[in-house]
Amino acid sequence: MTKTSPPSIIALDGPAASGKSTLGRKLADQLGYLFFDTGVMYRAITWIGLQQDMNLRDEAAITELAQQAQIDIRPPSKNDGRACDVIIAEKDVTWDMRGDEVDGNVSIVSAYPGVRKALSEQQRRIGMRGRVVMVGRDIGTVVLPEADLKVYLDASAEERAKRRFNEMIARGDKADYDEILRKVIERDRIDSTRAVAPLRPAEDAVIIDSDKLDVEQVFANVLALCK
Ligand code: C5P
Repeated sequence: MTKTSPPSIIALDGPAASGKSTLGRKLADQLGYLFFDTGVMYRAITWIGLQQDMNLRDEAAITELAQQAQIDIRPPSKNDGRACDVIIAEKDVTWDMRGDEVDGNVSIVSAYPGVRKALSEQQRRIGMRGRVVMVGRDIGTVVLPEADLKVYLDASAEERAKRRFNEMIARGDKADYDEILRKVIERDRIDSTRAVAPLRPAEDAVIIDSDKLDVEQVFANVLALCK
């Protein structure tokens, strides 16, 4: 009997709060692969721009920032739900980058072609080493079109907003469901209508609608695809 090995490069795309990171992390742990959440890079650039009071509409300045920024991603130093530490200028910004201000502005920054080029080149270099689960919006279409397995994880905006709301409450944060829903819809609108690398499933992606599935069920589905 021949034993087939699991796909080496796994691309996991989908809209905001669709559960890609949770799924990607579980899958990477199970397979002993690197987990790489590319959204972290776009968030980091946005966070630095906001911290430095830059005008995020200044495409040239933000592009230069993306070309020069030193974003350090390290194994998690705390067991507080993080997948990795994100360090900028020796400061741990892992949770700051998940705040409302970054959520509300990241899609402006990620629409700039120069920003995408700078970041996706780094993503591709890491992804092509293999044994990786890479999560984002354009991994299967642009960053790693040769991925061995492409999954597009979808869910209704309402379900995704509900999950994000529950996560925030569980972390002890304040949360307003209607506001979260509005932001999720707006972020998807910008991400899927931008000119370069818009959010969409690759033609050869397996689309999973997780509206009626819990994390374990989605995980089982994707694991079955790996075998
Ligand atoms: O996945 P996450 O919600 O952290 O991503 C934050 C934002 O980064 C997305 O809304 C999108 O604008 C951008 N992004 C992207 N391409 C990726 C990953 C994220 O444009 N591959």
